Amino acid sequence: MELVINGLSKTYGNGVKALDNVSLTIPTGMFGLLGPNGAGKSTLMRILATLQEADSGTAMLGNIDVLNDKQAVRQVLGYLPQEFGVYPRVSAYEMLDHIALLKGVVDKGPRKELVEALLQRVNLWEHRKRRISGFSGGMKQRFGIAQSLIGDPKLIIVDEPTAGLDPGERNRFYNLLTEIGENVVVILSTHIVQDVQELCRNMAIINKGKLLYAGSPAEALAAMRGKVWEKTIGKHELEQYATTHDLISNKLVGGTPIIHVMSDMDPGNGFFKAEPSLEDVFFGAIHRSNRETVAA
Ligand code: ADP
Repeated sequence: MELVINGLSKTYGNGVKALDNVSLTIPTGMFGLLGPNGAGKSTLMRILATLQEADSGTAMLGNIDVLNDKQAVRQVLGYLPQEFGVYPRVSAYEMLDHIALLKGVVDKGPRKELVEALLQRVNLWEHRKRRISGFSGGMKQRFGIAQSLIGDPKLIIVDEPTAGLDPGERNRFYNLLTEIGENVVVILSTHIVQDVQELCRNMAIINKGKLLYAGSPAEALAAMRGKVWEKTIGKHELEQYATTHDLISNKLVGGTPIIHVMSDMDPGNGFFKAEPSLEDVFFGAIHRSNRETVAA
């Protein structure tokens, strides 16, 4: 099953164009939707999760018309929102049991089996009697995955899942996501490049509602090869390099700035050719699109 999005647009009442004619084909497996804050990721995720209307365009999940046949989408959808909002003061077991009931798992026996299996799968079995309100960020996210898996979904949408997790929790969450079936479309929306780098076979980059890139991380890296240049500079030089070069990133290493610039030719002047990273791909795409917007 594939998700095929065509010409999707959404403008909010305040005039913000959150999605601008986005077309994207998403195959099964982990798909990373990468964009800075405000890029339009949540708007796209909410539209696909049938929580919001698009102005125009189409989205087909296999033969399900996502924008018009909401009931059919909801039956095959697992959604993990950015924030649950209120965390109930009930135990993980009780809550999962309750959600399974709401999702139509009416018979007690199969529901017990399902809830127990899910708690084991997301590694919360030993915490099943604890209140969710007392869970750590990572445990809440793993609980979120457990509830999203009820009903054997074909489309799983995970919105900014790793923000606020410590490295250990993030790893556990990554492992869990990786285990989720190969036959499922999993869309991971994030502004964290590492999430996509470690997990996703395919990706898209969006900024200001526009699609900037769609393809595999490997293809994106190959296209940047030979065009990324690195130099260690003095702190006071940063502003100058930002005006004279196509600056895509600057990092402090031991308090010293190291910059990456994009150039088809060797910029000379002490620059070394750098092996491009997915961060270079991401920031390069964002900088280019921001510059084009300013120039237009
Ligand atoms: P992201 O998830 O990538 O951070 P969003 O989809 O939340 O991006 O937002 C995209 C743009 O739409 C932003 O400029 C945001 O301020 C704006 N926006 C989001 N929701 C609303 C809303 N309900 N009303 C008006 N503007 C909104």
